[in-house]
Amino acid sequence: MTIEEIQRRKEELRVVISVPDILHKYGVEVKRGRCKGICHEGKDFNAKVTDDYLWCYVCNSSMDIFSITQHFENCDFWTAFELLGGTERPSFTTTVKAQKARKERELKESQELKHRMELRRIQNYITAYRNIIAEEKPLSELWCYCQNRLQYQIYLLDLHNEKR
Ligand SMILES: [Zn+2]
Repeated sequence: MTIEEIQRRKEELRVVISVPDILHKYGVEVKRGRCKGICHEGKDFNAKVTDDYLWCYVCNSSMDIFSITQHFENCDFWTAFELLGGTERPSFTTTVKAQKARKERELKESQELKHRMELRRIQNYITAYRNIIAEEKPLSELWCYCQNRLQYQIYLLDLHNEKR
């Protein structure tokens, strides 16, 4: 398998097998999105569990379905990959599901980037108007203009933050 094939297969497996699935398989209890810190043999529920990863608040370590399998099987990545079905031919549905998940993630990432850029732009305007207002003579034409624009940008900022 090429690196690209392995990468693709990893993504496919992540879509069909969730972290809670794997934890369940090894008898690890998940309660309200948390489980015991398996990474440090912990007794308390101080690891956060999502579909994609387990995050331990104690060790600051994050584990996915592969590293959890490695942990319990005491094996290397490749063995875990094989155990999870990585070398089997994926079914058509699996491939479609994985592609869909990837597209959704990419779309979300590009939206977040757009949001951050827009936020930065508004903040830059606000700073610029505030600077001019501070230096201009109050009630001068430019001062009034900047006050107006400033209110508008603050309004945009509120609007933008509400959208989140
Ligand atoms: Zn831990």
